[in-house]
Amino acid sequence: MIEIDKLVEQYNILDVGEHAEKLNETCPVAGVNLEFSPEKIAMLAKKDPGALVESPLIWECLACGLCRQVTEQRVDMSLFIRNVREQASNSGFHGTETHGGMLITTQRLSAFTSANPRRTGWINEALKVESGKGKYLYWVGGAPFFDAVMPELKPAALDSARAAILLLNKLGVRPVVLENERFSGHDLLWTGDTKGFRSLADQNMLAIKNSGAKVLIVSSPEDYYTLAKSYAEYSGGLDCEICHITEFVANHLSELKFSEYRQRVTYHDPCRLGRGMGVYDAPREILRAIPGVELVEMKNTRDYSSCCGTSCWTNCNRYSKLIQINRLREAASVGAEALVTTCWECAIHFNCATRPEAWRQVFMDVSDLTVLAASLLQG
Ligand code: SF4
Ligand code: SF4
Repeated sequence: MIEIDKLVEQYNILDVGEHAEKLNETCPVAGVNLEFSPEKIAMLAKKDPGALVESPLIWECLACGLCRQVTEQRVDMSLFIRNVREQASNSGFHGTETHGGMLITTQRLSAFTSANPRRTGWINEALKVESGKGKYLYWVGGAPFFDAVMPELKPAALDSARAAILLLNKLGVRPVVLENERFSGHDLLWTGDTKGFRSLADQNMLAIKNSGAKVLIVSSPEDYYTLAKSYAEYSGGLDCEICHITEFVANHLSELKFSEYRQRVTYHDPCRLGRGMGVYDAPREILRAIPGVELVEMKNTRDYSSCCGTSCWTNCNRYSKLIQINRLREAASVGAEALVTTCWECAIHFNCATRPEAWRQVFMDVSDLTVLAASLLQG
């Protein structure tokens, strides 16, 4: 049993009080939900830790990392919440899983050693990949499952995975794609299923080791954070270099040529890629390398970027929708014709908010940077 008071101390949760005003202004959830604030979490943690474990507040927090940013790295609300959720989950309290729980259930299933995934059926003839062993390994993550559950939400995650392999091929890289890759475990870890996460981590670490990979290239920011940081936290980490697809491409931009694309775009920093892994410049460098693209920044950008409104396929509600709509309106307010991101889950959630049948209408083109870059490749 985790003791909440120890976690309160470890993550400096009571220091929220000193920064309450700024935190309440910055927290994307507090901005739309008057019942929520980082201060309320801190007060409940202090006064009644048992009630905190049962409270919906711990599922409303997006674990977006902004608390840490605002308090100059002092208050780590994200990791505090992750640990409290573990206790909540062990005690039978859970968040509300979206899409009928399909995506979380699939991830739990993936954690069983008896489940034998086949993860390469989406690779078409245009893509050059290796099976088995090789220097470079491309991590596919949950893309095939997201597309199966939400085929109507474009750009599709698998379009992004295919685009990543096209870009790598153009740079002379034929990555290995693992037949037996499993979910990274991000969503299980952050919804309290530590046992499931560990099972996934152990199996994936062994599969990656057996591939002989020296460089692991990842598209999903959540998977990137998990493979690089959470695996290191739990199991000592992977014995290879890990990078995001945009970092790899940005490092080889001189070898690529893009067709002209006249559009005024803004870039949305995904929480796990920006605040989580410190990757802010690589996606912007790629956008600037595309002739005709005009990059404009939103007010809340880089380390102060807002969240896409929901995470871990849990607790998507009208507050999530308001956060998404606010972010898309922020993009429109700087004159952007498109919001570009590097996270297929951010793109899925934002596109969900732009559907004609969505709760409130908002118009914004949402693009995936990898798909955009690959579609403009010359030669
Ligand atoms: S981690 Fe993010 S969502 Fe959670 S309380 Fe802090 S700012 Fe709000
Ligand atoms: S915003 Fe995301 S989690 Fe919520 S319903 Fe849409 S696709 Fe599902």
